[in-house]
Amino acid sequence: MPNYDVLFEAVKIGPVTAKNRFYQVPHCCGMGHLRPQAHAAMRGMKAQGGWAVVSTEETEIHPSSDLSPAVEQRLWDERDIPALQLMTQSVHEHGALAAIELVHNGHHSSNLYSRTPALAPSSRSLDIIYPKQARAMDKADIREFRRWHKAAAIRAKQAGFDIVYVYAGHEMSLPHHFLLPEYNQRIDEYGGSLENRLRLTKELLQDTQEAIGDSCAVAFRFAVDQMLGSDGMQAHEEGRAVVEMLADIPDLWDVNVSGWGNDSATSRFQPDSGYQTEYTKFVKQVTNKPVVGVGRLTSPDMMVSLIKQGVLDFIGAARPSIADPFLPNKIQQQRIEEIRECIGCNVCVSCDNLGVPIRCTQNPTMGEEWRRGWHPEKIAAAKTPQSVLVVGAGPAGLECALQLANRGYEVVLSEASKQLGGRVISESNLKGLAIWRRVSDYRIYQLQQMDNVNIYLDSALDVQQVLELGIEHVFVATGALWRKDGIGRSSRTPILGLDQVAIYTPDDIMSGASLGPGPIVIYDDEQGYLGSVVADHLSDLGHDVIFVTSASIVSPFTELTLEQKQVQRGLVAQGVGIYTNKIIANLSQKSGHVGVDLKCEYGGEDQWLACASLVLVTERESASPLYEQLQQLQEDNGTSLPTPIPMSVTLIGDALAPGLIADAVFSGHQGAQEFEADPERVQQGLFKREMPSLKT
Ligand code: ADP
Ligand code: SF4
Repeated sequence: MPNYDVLFEAVKIGPVTAKNRFYQVPHCCGMGHLRPQAHAAMRGMKAQGGWAVVSTEETEIHPSSDLSPAVEQRLWDERDIPALQLMTQSVHEHGALAAIELVHNGHHSSNLYSRTPALAPSSRSLDIIYPKQARAMDKADIREFRRWHKAAAIRAKQAGFDIVYVYAGHEMSLPHHFLLPEYNQRIDEYGGSLENRLRLTKELLQDTQEAIGDSCAVAFRFAVDQMLGSDGMQAHEEGRAVVEMLADIPDLWDVNVSGWGNDSATSRFQPDSGYQTEYTKFVKQVTNKPVVGVGRLTSPDMMVSLIKQGVLDFIGAARPSIADPFLPNKIQQQRIEEIRECIGCNVCVSCDNLGVPIRCTQNPTMGEEWRRGWHPEKIAAAKTPQSVLVVGAGPAGLECALQLANRGYEVVLSEASKQLGGRVISESNLKGLAIWRRVSDYRIYQLQQMDNVNIYLDSALDVQQVLELGIEHVFVATGALWRKDGIGRSSRTPILGLDQVAIYTPDDIMSGASLGPGPIVIYDDEQGYLGSVVADHLSDLGHDVIFVTSASIVSPFTELTLEQKQVQRGLVAQGVGIYTNKIIANLSQKSGHVGVDLKCEYGGEDQWLACASLVLVTERESASPLYEQLQQLQEDNGTSLPTPIPMSVTLIGDALAPGLIADAVFSGHQGAQEFEADPERVQQGLFKREMPSLKT
């Protein structure tokens, strides 16, 4: 048995003590000040799962740092304290420490709600698409900002927090803006030399310590490297100098890289866990204070080695704690195979960018702790133990089967193909998505451990076979297929002339279709992630690839997952021709060659591109004839049949509504949760809502 004891040692942080080395660093969740009960329950779940420290997301300290429409925490004044107390109570209930990341976002704030001028070291455009600038702070502004920060720290202590942050990271906060020359062109004592640029941070740390340092630890979150090479701050130059200059002033160093896209790198572009270590490992050599670091750390062996080698004192995690809130407890109980490892897809991040409650591909209960009462490790026992049939073993079918089995039902899982995993396995065959396989690996392993589950591969079921099985409750998770006719966002009728070239869909590419010679046009009218993944994949195989999209950038969805620039730069670097704002109107011939006719969305000149193969990434169609036939039988009451018909047939996953893998897993989980539940509640799709208070 590997020995993980070192991970469960208590560590002192200033005046407080963490019970072990698992530290949930601040992360956004789209709940914030608007959804305090959901927030408290979600953070409390992490504490229950064994995290010794559980942090908030960014907490705005003043109306001049208003992040609307993003939903973050707020501690503008005393009226915000009770909502945050809900969180500290739920975290303390399980013996964990509660940490709060105080923030003033400078010109990264929108102030669209408060309509207060934004502040910055030097005048700068706001970080959002809104033509307004932040004002350059004068000395009085700096004094005021320090006063707000100190007052917020005192309110944080009143709310019950044990650790209070000063935050200079992600290029999103005033202390960071002051520190970086690209944002700070001041010529007074707050600009110029590193010592001057660091002055404000030092003052904030001292102010905070003075205000609450007797009973709360003061943490400093600092991005040691901007990952811009010599164009930005580097860990071995000014990054290190900052740590040397502040060394033992904070009670804890929470270190990472910036911007946010580098810190929360996706597995598509950064497959290795521990990817920040090379930048942050120097910090412990410089300070005597405990250090927490991140980098999608999910492997217990790597965690042990990071502690033993003196790289970190705390295993920091945002995404690994979202994918598995019970990660620490599972390691402590040597239940390593049961860890739901983060796949680095950043669907969680996309929710923050959309201002909606967090969700997670691996953990369908994330964000549903309070409003739906879901728990990542527990589910209600079966009301009436009986057999259930799940047809299709993609992410929806696997999750549904697993949770029905956890509830105690006898589960029959039937899969048409020779392997389990559906679209997860298919997509993970494409360039950059290999780690996504963890979604099916985790569930398959769990299902294989259970003796109330029977799995049948190579078993495509038709309606007759379902009836012959005689199982009364059927879940249909047969997925969806990509369309071959070009219907999508831009065209509600088929594209004309498709019969002139070889037409492929992502399904063909994922199942390894070999494409002939000549230019391949990929038409991305879906605008998600898959179009660019397919382009990258085929170009990597040596094909001559042209990417046509109706969007103004490549894969706009990936802006929400913080990858868009890498996606588009990657295709450019591979020599993929990119045509944006173009719709394929039809196919036609020129000089004996077939090609696509492109129409510009904005009335520009039409273009014609030669094309030997066309890959259509437009829309998907639910593959649910089985469901339709079973439903028909139910409507007819099955009177004409000798065998009894199933009592219930539930459509789940992509067969119900094509979406992200996260949506399919959620749908499968929901199907299992709601089976035999109060029908009225289920029918109305009810969940608890947080109603606005009429208090002022
Ligand atoms: P989802 O994302 O909803 O889980 P997928 O497309 O990933 O959907 O998975 C659907 C799975 O269902 C595929 O693995 C497919 O082979 C399987 N399947 C489709 N039709 C049948 C059927 N009639 N019987 C058994 N399995 C089926
Ligand atoms: Fe990890 Fe994806 Fe879940 Fe985020 S949504 S925690 S990246 S698995």
